[in-house]
Amino acid sequence: MTKRLYNFNPGPAALPLEVLEEAQATFVDFQGNGISLLEMSHRSRGVEELNHETQQLLLQLLNLPTSEYDVLFMGGGASAQFALLPMNFLHANQTAHYVLTGSFAEKAYKEATYIGQAAIAASSRSQNWSHIPILDEIQLSGNPAYLHLTLNNTIEGSRFNSIPNVGSTPLVADMTSDILSRKLDLQPFSMIYAGAQKNLGPAGVTVAIIRKDWLLQGSKLIPEIMRYETFAKHQSLFNTPPVHAIYMMNLMLKWVLQQGGVAALEQQNAGKAKLIYDVIDNSSGFYTGIIAHKDRSDMNITWRMANEALEKAFIQESLAHGFEGLAGHRSVGGLRASGYNAVPVEACQALAEFMTAFAEQHVS
Ligand code: PLP
Repeated sequence: MTKRLYNFNPGPAALPLEVLEEAQATFVDFQGNGISLLEMSHRSRGVEELNHETQQLLLQLLNLPTSEYDVLFMGGGASAQFALLPMNFLHANQTAHYVLTGSFAEKAYKEATYIGQAAIAASSRSQNWSHIPILDEIQLSGNPAYLHLTLNNTIEGSRFNSIPNVGSTPLVADMTSDILSRKLDLQPFSMIYAGAQKNLGPAGVTVAIIRKDWLLQGSKLIPEIMRYETFAKHQSLFNTPPVHAIYMMNLMLKWVLQQGGVAALEQQNAGKAKLIYDVIDNSSGFYTGIIAHKDRSDMNITWRMANEALEKAFIQESLAHGFEGLAGHRSVGGLRASGYNAVPVEACQALAEFMTAFAEQHVS
């Protein structure tokens, strides 16, 4: 059997072995067609069905009604969504509002400033992103186009646990690093988007899930290829889609169903994260969590150690023990363990044991 590392990469992230093996088994001859999926026309019946099935599965797992939402498969990663969102939905005489909770939220905001009027509704930047601002009584000035939230902050390791009520203002969520990881009522959202490369499969496709009634309000002043409406009208087949990435997502979604759906994974993810947070919290300061307890993410667990030399030694030793991807993002340093859906409980147990042993060896 292939030796698999304990993969805590932040993204592209771990995929379930079963999914990889199934993709391998169908790679050369797709469903007995005599050709690979990589060689098939995206206009063929098989690919159209794959697209449709994948869209339906995603809505089913997110508990969103197919009559109210369209699922779009797009390119350019979540970063392209940062720009496409205001291009489509930030009209002249409106203001787009952003809650800044980390560097991806900040990037999304910055893109909006190139397109029109954008405002910061709340920010935890001055506290080094260590918590999620309380938004109970959030006031949006001007004529709000939408409010944008980054529901899980991949680099910093925080997440929203409640969604602000903003009345009739459309809500938009970047769910790149928490989609399908926890049960959330997503019906208040007019749009959700996510790059695939964490809980949805490999990189190469980006999903945008948009309310049908909001889609109609998209700008007609931008090129067709930039319009969400174009992708909806053509079932994401306006241009050549990344068919194999969509197939991998299809396999991932079926795997999620087999695990018992989002509720079962949420429970598992909370247990996995607790194993590691417990080591941090019980280490008498050897490991220091970065995020306020109430806002900690179960997907991205971040911590620091006494000094950079010790952090370096930790990373080096972890690699030697078969742990992959524990270095924090290059912009912030420190350590980060990303426990996405496909990371098994055993990997988190092994990491918790490794962290405990490392602390025992290095406590002076
Ligand atoms: N938003 C979040 C929350 C992310 O974690 C990432 C990437 O990790 C992005 C946006 C950017 O995604 P992409 O690399 O697909 O453009």
